[in-house]
Amino acid sequence: MTPFAAAATDRLVLMNPGPVVLDDRVRAALSGPDLCHREPEFAGLLARIRHKTTLVAGGGDAHTAVLLTGSGTSAVEAVISSAVPPGGGLLVIDNGHYGERLADIAAAHGIRTHRLEAGWAVPVDLAAVERALAADPGLTHVGVVHHETSTGMLNDVAGIARIAHAYGREVIVDAVSSVGAERVSPAEDGVDWLAGSANKCLEGAPGLAFVVAATDAFERLGAFPRRTYYLDLHRHYTAQAKSGLPAFTPGIPACYAFEAALDLALAEGREARHARYRALAERLRAGLEALGLELLLPPGQRAVGLTALRLPPGTGYEELHRGLRAAGFVIYRAQERLAADHWRLSTMGRITAADIDRFLSVLADLLRDRADSTDVTEGGTR
Ligand SMILES: *Cc1c(COP(=O)(O)O)cnc(C)c1O
Repeated sequence: MTPFAAAATDRLVLMNPGPVVLDDRVRAALSGPDLCHREPEFAGLLARIRHKTTLVAGGGDAHTAVLLTGSGTSAVEAVISSAVPPGGGLLVIDNGHYGERLADIAAAHGIRTHRLEAGWAVPVDLAAVERALAADPGLTHVGVVHHETSTGMLNDVAGIARIAHAYGREVIVDAVSSVGAERVSPAEDGVDWLAGSANKCLEGAPGLAFVVAATDAFERLGAFPRRTYYLDLHRHYTAQAKSGLPAFTPGIPACYAFEAALDLALAEGREARHARYRALAERLRAGLEALGLELLLPPGQRAVGLTALRLPPGTGYEELHRGLRAAGFVIYRAQERLAADHWRLSTMGRITAADIDRFLSVLADLLRDRADSTDVTEGGTR
């Protein structure tokens, strides 16, 4: 018996922002046939995944997708390291952990950055973006996170792209935790490079990431010297688009699952998935506020996939995690500067309204038990 035997039968409700609870059809697809990635069956699967990924990511006829085996960060790093030309620079819109990561990735490849730091959970100031671009023509690219998962904030990608394009710059969007559930479209929002992953709002298994961009833009990468071997986007594009095969051995079971997940995403539609996540998030948020808990963001700034909130007074994250995990719920720690007093709850994936209701009731019990025991140990002083 493995240590996970119990978890395999008792469904865990993953309220961490990816990997997510899978639809049974997606999980079943993971046990597809043994296959060589250089056989025609895999070429067919890859072509279908690339096409369906382009569609779910809002790409048009001029766009295409490149599939990578790796987590979401691999797609973000492939874009930044491949798309910013030698001598170019990246304006990083930074209002959270993943914004900081864009700057860290660029720095790791020796790419010059200008970091526009708004502060965590602070909306991006479009006028500041414009000033930064006007002041520095060497910033050839703008990098922004669509849904900043460290806070749950949705950034105004279309507004940023309008300014960037007015100044002739390209826009790189980390849409890892938004694509599939939030409106973002390379065709309509001016996103030149969209990085995403299979295992968040697209509800696939972990292990795959992708980049969607104009076919022309992928072609142009061939003119630049490459900064990396394995994450060289032009290499992956050329292999996948020209020979129809992956450059390296892909995570084949994750590909089976991703195709099943893409079919479900396309059948449901982006707006219906957004509405499903929004209904879950609103149910959760109303329940949390009824328990007296304080949400980090005002309503107008929240994405549907994540809720960050203050820890209940006097309760540590570990204690909360332990209590909720025992009842089958996995919650998520806040990062860095929010870690001391906040936590996070995701509403991505196949979570149901009944899951949310049970979660809220378990949480209410935990908080009540805690208040009771505090009364006792403090001798009823509260
Ligand atoms: C999850 C996430 C990533 C990627 O994280 P991985 O662990 O590499 O999958 C990148 N950006 C955002 C905004 C995310 O939410």
